[in-house]
Amino acid sequence: MAKNIILLGPPGAGKGTQAQRLVESRGMVQLSTGDMLRAAKTSGTEMGKRVAEIMDKGQLVTDEIVIGLIEEKLTAGAPGGFIFDGFPRTLKQADALGDLLARMGQKLDAVIELVVDDEALVGRIVKRAEESRAAGQPVRADDTPEVFADRLRAYYKQTAPLLGYYYAKGGLAQVDGMAAMDAVAASIAKVLDRA
Ligand code: AMP
Repeated sequence: MAKNIILLGPPGAGKGTQAQRLVESRGMVQLSTGDMLRAAKTSGTEMGKRVAEIMDKGQLVTDEIVIGLIEEKLTAGAPGGFIFDGFPRTLKQADALGDLLARMGQKLDAVIELVVDDEALVGRIVKRAEESRAAGQPVRADDTPEVFADRLRAYYKQTAPLLGYYYAKGGLAQVDGMAAMDAVAASIAKVLDRA
């Protein structure tokens, strides 16, 4: 059965990596607002130019923009379910997502927090940038230790309150994000199978 899930956690927690695995193993559709915004950034549209500056500073772009992006993608539907990766990031976005899903006669089946150790995160980000560089791939402008500190601050200030929000709704599951990639994937699978 199709399941809709949110992967929550700070930048570098492994949300994108785990989402990609779920796409491959379960045919789910990954909706990453970060990927959508990076695509908008490189497209050179008016919206892209507006968001580029904000993203490069490690701040959050406006709720209206990201909610609009998600709304567009949701209408296409996903027989295997959606994985929300990097969205919602504010309480307003969380409310909007609930409303959008309700309008489609759908709901969230699980909200999974990848619990990680902050100290390890900056190391992961630097490694991600090095690997991209070595592979001749573009390096994210916000994958530097300086911008990362601001992204982490934005997470604690604006996104971490969502943990309480979903806990209160009864849908929050926690997974050890510091475990090996396969072990994290197995823990997520367990949550999904009982959701
Ligand atoms: P990510 O790839 O999820 O780390 O996102 C990269 C950047 O895109 C963030 O630092 C924000 O500037 C922006 N961004 C991504 N998703 C959101 C969102 N849901 N709300 C606001 N800004 C976002």
